[in-house]
Amino acid sequence: MISALMPTYNRADLAFERGEGAWLYTTDGRRFLDFASGIATCSLGHANPHLVKAITEQAAKVIHVSNLFRVPQAERLAARLVEATFADSVFFCNSGAEANEGMVKAMRRAQAKSGHPERTRILCFEGAFHGRTLGMLSATGNPTYLEGFGERAPGFDHVPLNNMNAVRDAITPETAGVMLEPIQGESGIKAADVRFLKELRTMCDEFGLFLGFDEVQTGVGRTGKLFAHEWAGVEPDVMSAAKGLGGGFPIGAILAREAVAKHLTPGTHGTTFGGNPLACAAGNAVLDVLLAPGFMERVQERAALLDGQLDILITEFPDIFTERRGLGLLIGLRCVPKVGDVLNAVRDAGLLAVAAGDNVLRLVPPLIISKQDCEEGVTRLRQAATHLRAASGAKTPEITS
Ligand SMILES: *Cc1c(COP(=O)(O)O)cnc(C)c1O
Repeated sequence: MISALMPTYNRADLAFERGEGAWLYTTDGRRFLDFASGIATCSLGHANPHLVKAITEQAAKVIHVSNLFRVPQAERLAARLVEATFADSVFFCNSGAEANEGMVKAMRRAQAKSGHPERTRILCFEGAFHGRTLGMLSATGNPTYLEGFGERAPGFDHVPLNNMNAVRDAITPETAGVMLEPIQGESGIKAADVRFLKELRTMCDEFGLFLGFDEVQTGVGRTGKLFAHEWAGVEPDVMSAAKGLGGGFPIGAILAREAVAKHLTPGTHGTTFGGNPLACAAGNAVLDVLLAPGFMERVQERAALLDGQLDILITEFPDIFTERRGLGLLIGLRCVPKVGDVLNAVRDAGLLAVAAGDNVLRLVPPLIISKQDCEEGVTRLRQAATHLRAASGAKTPEITS
């Protein structure tokens, strides 16, 4: 018989009762070091006192009022994001897919209202992941995710990442904009080249197209800058954020330049839950921590520590790990054994990680991770690699001749 909870996930048989910092504790008292962070979402780790206080205090006052009224918490969060980024204006929603839907709507609407209603198509990239709504499945373009869900939503084209010739060939008079992750997360921590991003920016300016970044995974401090595109020195016209923004509380956002945002006039886009007082209290608490002086530098230091130790691990275990990818605390280790087997071995060693495409083990610790916990994580990875090596050795047939 089917489980009461729809069987859309192959869940690990672990249930966590509580967490503290980078650690999670199961109902039966085992503890795990969390390099998964609820898929790059628990930016402040677990039970962060500042976030807990902000959420509980706001919940005790008012949780939700709808967007028919002013929401001071949302006004403040938007103002702080505007202050800290390229954006002039922000729309809040509840998830990454929703933020991307809104980003596409914003690009199309801005084209239509500035004399180009024919410009509706969005150029996307092979290996992208933009979410699970019907629209974003088509933007994602991965046949595995689309299978059985009917016709693709029209208006999305796909070309290989980091190939400017392919981009130029795919641009038509109907193209409205380009949408990409500065670093593709789900498909295996694959970065867009800085030069490619710069060329995309130039091309978009040249042809009057909008450049949209999906920073749902790379954003909110994950790479050691507030947003990953800051590393490249390339600003988008519109951008999505979500995962880390609420520190685990669901909230997404569309951030846009005025030229794009001004066309989302009353009635053109909306949400019941988006940007409610509780979600924005969470977002503001996360920003309190991330925008404090020295925080991003600390994230970069932790990343440098992990990078160095992981590179050593790779040289020790070339039969298990072949390559390190990523930026900041968005780290991928390409595996030799099946990543599922590596994930299990890592979990047996008391470390939580996430699988990604291209046989990559994704390590996304909370941004507040301590030096000691970084080192502990590498120790546990080493244990797992040692076990995997022993297990594969045991399975190797004996040499008889
Ligand atoms: C996770 C993710 C999404 C989808 O976010 P949801 O909150 O699951 O809808 C979209 N884009 C990227 C890059 C992501 O990593």
